[in-house]
Formats: sequence, structure tokens, C-alpha cells
Amino acid sequence: MTESFAVDRRNEAEARIRRFLDQENPSTPCLVIDLETIRARYQAIRAALPSIDIFYAVKSNPESDVVATLVAEGSHFDVASPAEIDLCLARGAEPSSISYSNPIKKAADIAYAYSRGVRMFVSDSEQDVRFVASHAPGSSVLLRILVHSKGSTYPFGNKFGCDAEMATDLLRLAHELGLVPLGVAFHAGSQQLSVEGWDSGIADAAVIAAKLRAEGIETTTVNLGGGLPVVYQESTPSLEAFGSAIEASIARHFGAARPKVMIEPGRAISAEAGMIRSSVVLVSRKSYSDERRWVYVDIGRYQGLAETEGEAIAYALRTSRDGGPVGPIVLAGPTCDADDVIYQHTRYDLPLDLRAGDHVDILHAGAYTSSYSSVCFNGFPPLATYCI
Ligand SMILES: *Cc1c(COP(=O)(O)O)cnc(C)c1O
Repeated sequence: MTESFAVDRRNEAEARIRRFLDQENPSTPCLVIDLETIRARYQAIRAALPSIDIFYAVKSNPESDVVATLVAEGSHFDVASPAEIDLCLARGAEPSSISYSNPIKKAADIAYAYSRGVRMFVSDSEQDVRFVASHAPGSSVLLRILVHSKGSTYPFGNKFGCDAEMATDLLRLAHELGLVPLGVAFHAGSQQLSVEGWDSGIADAAVIAAKLRAEGIETTTVNLGGGLPVVYQESTPSLEAFGSAIEASIARHFGAARPKVMIEPGRAISAEAGMIRSSVVLVSRKSYSDERRWVYVDIGRYQGLAETEGEAIAYALRTSRDGGPVGPIVLAGPTCDADDVIYQHTRYDLPLDLRAGDHVDILHAGAYTSSYSSVCFNGFPPLATYCI
């Protein structure tokens, strides 16, 4: 997809969402998901990474119609819990299309997944490999390794994965316990802006595969995790650039023994499909000399803008008064929590005549928003979602 075609696509999606909002005038805040964009993003990733199996990371947006749209496209699914398994199966996904990619699992949850037909699991510990062997006998296991997340806007830190030596031992253990030692999984950090972000993980995976092959244990697969980025405000390399860098890494490290490759995009499928509409609650200043106005909107950290913590993700904003003169603002949420300030370090300028009741639209907000919104903190309900 050329960049200008992608921009046209994004504008069309935004126009469809605005038409819906104008016609229905739902109360704010709300998230509108354009299913056509979900489809288009899936197809764009497929086209850019044609030899790689796509497992949609359900947690990024678990809306039932999003899952159904992706089932119809032939997507596979990355899930983290029994409820996500049920969701995918309820919308027609085959159990064989599901990877239980969360290394932190209760034995009972593994047994449940197995009873529903799931046969692919990701582990990063001896306990979990043993749990999978006893509660999902004969299943396939990928071992998650720790990799650095250099280049990622939203790094994963060191919660998941073990080092290469332990992963090798645990794949051997999986083999001994009658599981299928499928290979290595890793996650290069979310919103990974470097096309080389996957290279070191692929290199480690190849070393582990070669080591096991020398012992007579054939692994077949590498799971590249998520991380494909989306355009918030900064531009990103194209999907094609990621596709060719990843294929080049695989060729360089695996040579003729190309493994089966899986990727688990979440954000890259769901973010651009969504727009949040919020309303201004209050515009004020903290002193007569204060240059910056405070704009309080009816959505904040607890209704879906969790990824603005540390101002990691800086969404593009549009208001119903765009076009006139603008000035600097601090953007804050509506709750009584002092941390519910959305942007105070990132520079945002909004129209000087912005006032209570005006709309502030948050673009490309389909990922990690509704799924992060709290049940009812301070009496504010979870983010309402409409799929069109
Ligand atoms: C969250 C997650 C993903 C999706 O990450 P994105 O950065 O949204 O693409 C993929 N795989 C695993 C195991 C995850 O936990």
C-alpha cells in the first residue's frame, strides 16, 4: 500500500465514523470502531508479510464484532485468558487458530483451554511447561525469551520471557514430557518504530533451534509477538519496510531452514479503526497570568486513555472548533484522581474559543482504550463502543 493510498483510507474511515456520530449523536465519551478499517489493516499486514501467519492480539480490542470480522478474513488469534478463548470460539474461530500466548496461566485455565480444543501454548517457566504437559497433554509449546525492546514506545520490560539457555532446556523438557516443542516466541515491545526491532529475537531463536536440532529435536516455528506500530502523530516506517526487514532477518539467521513464522499484531490492526469522541467539561486557568488553559474532557486515564500514562502515546486530537486561532493547553480527565491528567508535558494547542460542550475527537484510538477502561471509577461508566 502506498503512503498516499493509506492516508486516503484513513480519511475515508474518519469520514464514515463522523457520519455515524452526526446521525446517531451518542452520548460521550464513546469509541467508534470502523470494521472496514479492521479488515483493511488485516489485509495490509497480510500483503506486507505474505509468508507469516497473523494471530490478532485480542486484548488490544476485544469487541465481539472485531473478532468476527477477523474470523471472516481467516485470521488466527492470540489470547490470554479463558474469556478471550470463549469470545473467539463464540464468533466462529477454530480452536486450531488460537494461541494461548500468555505465559502466566493457572492450571485450571490451561485445562479449560484444552477442553475447548486449544492446542498451542506459550510458556516461559518450568512450572508452566509442566502444567501444560499435565493439563493439555500432547499440545504444542513455544518458549518465550526475553529480548530488549529498543525502539519501542511501549516496552514490555522484563516481566515475560526467560533467557536463551533456560528456553533451550525447557523446550527439551517439553519434548521429554510428550509436548511438541514448537520453537521460540518473543515480543519486541509495543509500538516498535525500528524495522530492526525483531532482529535480535530472531537471531536468538535461530541459535536455539540449531542447538536443539543438533540433539535431534526439530523445532519448526518462531513467534514474533506484536509490536507493529501505527501512526499516531509521528510517521512510522511502512508495513512493507517491516516485512522486508523481518524476512531479511529470518533469511540471515535461519538460512535454508526457514521456520514457520507467526506474528501477533494487536495495535496495528485495531488502533486506526477507532475514534473516540469526548466532550469538553470545563476550560479554566490556574492564575490570571497562566498562558496555558486547562481543558477537562469527559474521558481520562480511567475511561480508556490508560496508554497516555507517562504520555507514552500522544494521540492526534480534532475539535469541533478547529480552524481558528489556537493556544497551548493541558488536557485532563474528569475524575477526582490527581493522576488523571492526560497531557501536560507534550505540547498540544487547541482553539482559543474551545468551551464546555464542544467535542474533542481522539484519533486512531481503537487499541488499548475500551479494553483498559475501568468498571466505574468515581461513577464514570466504562467506555461505550459502537462498531460500524
Ligand atoms: C499484547 C501482546 C501482543 C500485541 O502487541 P501489539 O504491540 O499491540 O501488537 C502480541 N503478543 C503478545 C504475547 C502480547 O502480550
